Amino acid sequence: MEVSVVIPLLNEEENIQQLYTKLEAVLAKLNKPYEIIFIDDGSTDNTFDILKDIHKINKNAKIIRFRRNFGKALAFSAGFDHSKGDVIITMDGDLQNDPEDIPRLLDKLDEGYDIVKGWRVNRKDPFFSKKLPSKIFNWLTSRITGVKLHDFVCALNAYRREVVENITIYGELHRYIPVLASMWGVSIAEIEIKHHPRIHGESKYKVGRLVRGTFDLITIKFLLSYSTRPLQLFGIPGVISFFIGFVIGAHLAIDRLVFGMGIGHRPLLLLAVLLIFLGAQFITMGLLGEVMARVYYEVQNKPMYAIREIID
Ligand code: UDP
Ligand code: MG
Repeated sequence: MEVSVVIPLLNEEENIQQLYTKLEAVLAKLNKPYEIIFIDDGSTDNTFDILKDIHKINKNAKIIRFRRNFGKALAFSAGFDHSKGDVIITMDGDLQNDPEDIPRLLDKLDEGYDIVKGWRVNRKDPFFSKKLPSKIFNWLTSRITGVKLHDFVCALNAYRREVVENITIYGELHRYIPVLASMWGVSIAEIEIKHHPRIHGESKYKVGRLVRGTFDLITIKFLLSYSTRPLQLFGIPGVISFFIGFVIGAHLAIDRLVFGMGIGHRPLLLLAVLLIFLGAQFITMGLLGEVMARVYYEVQNKPMYAIREIID
């Protein structure tokens, strides 16, 4: 079994050498073949040169250099695509995660889990700009997706190969790997890990990512619950809206045709028209969604089910 460690780096020149030294010591002790995949995500400092020096000494350390900054999710994605291990470990390159936690992650995975998430119980980050928003994010994500975790954002995680092969991440979606994987049916464990304050360099993330993260949550919820049946999401409110609009419209029509009352000035008329249009649009959107879902699964040659094993 080979272990692949995937590490995204953006301007981490002061951290890499120490990270590599600690990581190499831990991996050498595992007595398993390993590889370290560093992704230089468009650094403008000496990150790449330092990585090249490391590669010269250790051929198990591989480097993927992006042409520009593509973000952490695509960095992970490239790392996954180029990794060979049966087990893939991800971690940050800023020394906030501790390589010494890796053996514990692997042990937990060996118990039969598909994903082992790190949980930074004693997180060493500023409260208002990081810890509080994270708390809200974790609570909301757990509630909405039904995947109960304390720390979605933590980068130190272990995955079985098939997990990373079956998901597509971009944007800020790397935080939702367990959720995306849960669509396929996976077992997830969480273990407490160490966390250190960032000493060199600065955090690359600003508060704005939380707003973007919330939009991602809507996408994720949709993918998770309705991607194979969009008509149910849009169709039900559509039919309800259409029906109420129709009833009000019929009531007005009777007033006009049977009782000869003028209805042009009645606010209910506007409501009826609005509800009927809204209903028709929702139903149409649902149908379009159905078509798109079929295209989505077909172009990828993706079945809508996932099999763990077949015993024949
Ligand atoms: N990172 C990256 N590309 C980016 C932003 C960050 O590869 O566009 C890397 C960064 O170099 C670090 C890790 O992702 O290794 C985590 O970033 P950071 O420490 O800035 O995030 P925080 O811990 O503050 O959430
Ligand atoms: Mg950090």
